[in-house]
Amino acid sequence: MLAINGGTPVLDENAIAPWPEVTDADREAVLRALDRSTPWRWPMTDVQELEAAWAEHTGSRFAVAANSGTAALHMAVAATTIGPGDEVLVPADTFLASATCVLQANAVPVFVDVDPVTYTIDPSEIERHITPRTRAIIAVDLNGLPADYDALHAIARKHNLIIVEDGAQAHGATYRGRAVGSLGDLAGCSLNGSKCLSALSEGGLFTTNNEEWHQNALRVLMFGDEIRGKTRAYNARIMGWNYRLHSLAAAFARSQLERLPAMSEVRSENGNYLAKSLTDVPGVRPPTVPEGSTHVYFFFPLMVEPEALGLDVPVDAFRCAVKAAMRAEGVPLDEWQRMPVPGQTLFQEMRGYGRGCPWTCGHAAQGTRYDPDAYPVTRDICRRRLVLGSSTSSFGPPNGVDLMNGYAEAFHKVLVEHRAELAELTTRFATAH
Ligand SMILES: *Cc1c(COP(=O)(O)O)cnc(C)c1O
Repeated sequence: MLAINGGTPVLDENAIAPWPEVTDADREAVLRALDRSTPWRWPMTDVQELEAAWAEHTGSRFAVAANSGTAALHMAVAATTIGPGDEVLVPADTFLASATCVLQANAVPVFVDVDPVTYTIDPSEIERHITPRTRAIIAVDLNGLPADYDALHAIARKHNLIIVEDGAQAHGATYRGRAVGSLGDLAGCSLNGSKCLSALSEGGLFTTNNEEWHQNALRVLMFGDEIRGKTRAYNARIMGWNYRLHSLAAAFARSQLERLPAMSEVRSENGNYLAKSLTDVPGVRPPTVPEGSTHVYFFFPLMVEPEALGLDVPVDAFRCAVKAAMRAEGVPLDEWQRMPVPGQTLFQEMRGYGRGCPWTCGHAAQGTRYDPDAYPVTRDICRRRLVLGSSTSSFGPPNGVDLMNGYAEAFHKVLVEHRAELAELTTRFATAH
């Protein structure tokens, strides 16, 4: 019997270790930082060490730590001097910050549908959205899988566009042997607690090989002023913010970064193993990994397909039933983005900074409107997607093959062995709506 109907759950309460895994090495690193964090003098030693290590890991000339991924992405867009009147292409299925970093620079996001297999921005959809105002593409390595960079760079070269990599979900993944964080012309990554490289709390990392953009990013980081290696002039040159990272967060992330290659390998193995284990479980479609890339499964996205079980039921009710049944078995499946990003109220009401800026700014093309139905692949993903991963059902160590077998067993129980109970549950959800 399914656990939701009173049966015994497949996984017990402590089966899943939360992410990140905190080790004695991390504890020592934070305590060391505590001892050397006074007097306060920017840049703090622990911050500089994190930056140097991230630059080395990604093979980038410059890395700058920030206090969130959102801040690092804003630094990246602003560093290129993209601004009023410019348009930037953004995948319609992503986390909001991939698009708001464009608004933060007073430019206009233009959304592009994603690929139905990789779930990253669809290169074949890009060119029809390019206008004379288009300056850049935000390439998001969604779920932990790098975007299709060969195709993206070819389009960028042809149209003279900048590629900003949003690597917030994919530290440790590679594309043709190269590290996430180095796959565009600049990158912003997140160190948020749940992310594959975690500062436990909040943090972000900016990278580029371009010296001028590096200098611009430093100004955006700190009041528009110039501080590093110089006597502070207290003279702001441009608009800047305060995006500096906490030194204890830097020390924790630096310590985690030591283990990133090993942790990423475990993540990839776990996710690939589970995907393979689910090939004989109809009703949920596991992710696939294209040749030449590695996937680190920040999220393990599954698309529910009642059609594959021969069930003529609403997809929504089926997804509710799978989610509820799996959660009762101890597998915390969840929904993620509920709609294409352009469907969010921010893009429907377009209030922006007030009075509709930046859309109504005199430099911008007038008449921008956002239609969430113009992105059918994203719409379908939002209807069908359930995810594992993040912090509460992590694919990172110490979770390993035993847990993956537990997840697989639960899917098998719900979708194969007790399919009749699932169908009955689906009917209950369908009529409750
Ligand atoms: C988490 C995330 C961000 C934002 O990072 P924060 O550190 O939370 O500000 C940006 N883009 C994507 C795709 C993310 O998942």
